[in-house]
Amino acid sequence: MTGFVTRFAPSPTGHLHLGHAASAFHVWDAAREAGGRVLLRLEDIDQTRCRPEYEASILADLAWLGLDWSGPVRRQSEHFDDYARVLDALQARGLIYRCFKTRREIAAALPAGADPDDAPFIGKPLAPQDEARHLALGHAFAWRLSLRAARAALGDRYTALDYTEETASGARTVRANPAAFGDVVLARKDTPASYHLACCHDDALQGITHVIRGEDIRDMTSVHVLLQALMDWPVPVYRFHPLVLGPDGKKLSKRAGDKGLSVYKEEGMTPGDIRAMTLAA
Ligand code: GLU
Repeated sequence: MTGFVTRFAPSPTGHLHLGHAASAFHVWDAAREAGGRVLLRLEDIDQTRCRPEYEASILADLAWLGLDWSGPVRRQSEHFDDYARVLDALQARGLIYRCFKTRREIAAALPAGADPDDAPFIGKPLAPQDEARHLALGHAFAWRLSLRAARAALGDRYTALDYTEETASGARTVRANPAAFGDVVLARKDTPASYHLACCHDDALQGITHVIRGEDIRDMTSVHVLLQALMDWPVPVYRFHPLVLGPDGKKLSKRAGDKGLSVYKEEGMTPGDIRAMTLAA
């Protein structure tokens, strides 16, 4: 066993489909080649969309594929206190602020057609009396990471946030560009942690040395490297694998009702067939 530790981190918001199987094969193959370990993490912080039956089906599908993990499963919903502590630490350092702007207000400030959930919004903390007024009225808010405060906290490090990406042809250093994301949301009034916060916290806590994930979330690595710098968390090595596309050329999505792995199983396919299909894509 080497020091190589990676993870598979599905969200139990649906059944695993071919895209997840491809991702899982990339993760387990990499660990096998490196003589390392795979940890399993269920990213179930969004309790409105995650369901126990999906979790059970993920575990059953992984067992069917013959993919076994080391140690206990980490369920993020069991660790909200951990994420609250990170938020508290960031708040104490003035790195996050409550943003009360509604989606409509954010959309109005953006170029027409921009998605308020994805646009690089930059805001600022409200004056204490204005914030108190919003809180007293019970208004919803997002905890946003202030890029301005992050830049001030990190000084020269802010302009040299680098990470290593490994590809089939070797390793290269990539400069993160967190400004492309603006002040990202790290939590909301009723959602204790965002994906970014919980994922980076857990990668650090679980000693993940290699993050292997789909190319579709490559860009988000910039946000993660910024959080790692602010929290003094180690920066794992990153690898990005190609996505399995549907017949329409678009990414497969659980929500779009793509065929779950158990359906292929019922149709008589073997794990070997699934592997062949994900590689052929
Ligand atoms: N929960 C994320 C997903 O299902 C994990 C992505 C990652 O951080 O590797 O895509």
